[in-house]
Amino acid sequence: MSDLAPYAVSDGTSLGRAVAEPRPKARSEFQRDRDRIVHSTAFRRLEYKTQVFVNHEGDLFRTRLTHSIEVAQIARSIARALQLNDDLAEAIALAHDLGHTPFGHAGQDALNECMQAHGGFEHNLQSLRIVDRLEERYGAFDGLNLMFETREGILKHCSPARARGLGELGQRFLDGRQPSLEAQICNLADEIAYNNHDVDDGLRSGLLTLDQLGEVNLFAHHAAAADAEFPQLSDRRRVHETIRRMIDALVTDLLAESSRRIEAATPHTLAEVHTAPALIAFTDTMQAENRALKGFLRDHLYQHYQVLRMTAKAHRIIHDLFNAFVADPRLLPPQYREMAATESVARATADYIAGMTDRYSMKEHRRLFSVGEL
Ligand code: MG
Repeated sequence: MSDLAPYAVSDGTSLGRAVAEPRPKARSEFQRDRDRIVHSTAFRRLEYKTQVFVNHEGDLFRTRLTHSIEVAQIARSIARALQLNDDLAEAIALAHDLGHTPFGHAGQDALNECMQAHGGFEHNLQSLRIVDRLEERYGAFDGLNLMFETREGILKHCSPARARGLGELGQRFLDGRQPSLEAQICNLADEIAYNNHDVDDGLRSGLLTLDQLGEVNLFAHHAAAADAEFPQLSDRRRVHETIRRMIDALVTDLLAESSRRIEAATPHTLAEVHTAPALIAFTDTMQAENRALKGFLRDHLYQHYQVLRMTAKAHRIIHDLFNAFVADPRLLPPQYREMAATESVARATADYIAGMTDRYSMKEHRRLFSVGEL
């Protein structure tokens, strides 16, 4: 990190940590945040949490962990090219999915249904709850005591009702202010990462075919470019040569459009970034292509009957676990029984379930529901 733009987040312009700590000796404050995230328990659990494919379906599919690492790679590159704080971008990217339940979005939707009468469940807010409260590692504070801007970046969406309960961190949702450019980068790096790796995993699993993907402009265009350069490639190399071109095109477009917007808005300070419109963006043309790819993945991969079977199973497992613990909180492990005493049984149960890996939740389901399992 060198030569930061004047409107980048820096140690000097940051709002700092909730609990004051001595400055790190050989790192920046945001490097320290990244390091705390990497050493957290929730981060290690990402290895066994579903992105689209359940972990046991195959060893080569993305998990939440490898997804988060890909997001961090893309976010860091973009941040550095725009003279922004790449340590902050990396920290946000590595933490952005910490709050995900087992079984991906299906798990979150099921847990949110269970929590309807108890304030709901949302994975963004849960990521924040993990870094602010649930990690139990330090003597002086709960959670990881991260810098304000790292927490701001983790909380990418929030309803006004919930924002009111979050103090300074929620205020931007009520005032309609933008987060830092580093946080804006992570949002789009997330999209770039999952749209592209889901194409790769979709093809690898056989749920998507190259013929189908030929309908998607972005894919067809870059597959043709790969074919022109390497006419004799095997399918595997051809897919990768196509995907790397797609990622490059998305990142290049994002850099050009964001530079143009930054130049037009000429922010001089971080405060001016907050009040400007979103400055990190694709061009309208690329935005449309990206949306078409996303729509294709929704229709052909996320709604594929084999994926929906997993979704239905996840739904049942989460509902069963939730109902069993709420009906008899004595079944919760001691740490969560303590949480139930200070918050509510429902919230403690949601914390417990959200923290589970895919395989742990299936094991816990067997322990509670199968006669003969211990
Ligand atoms: Mg993500």
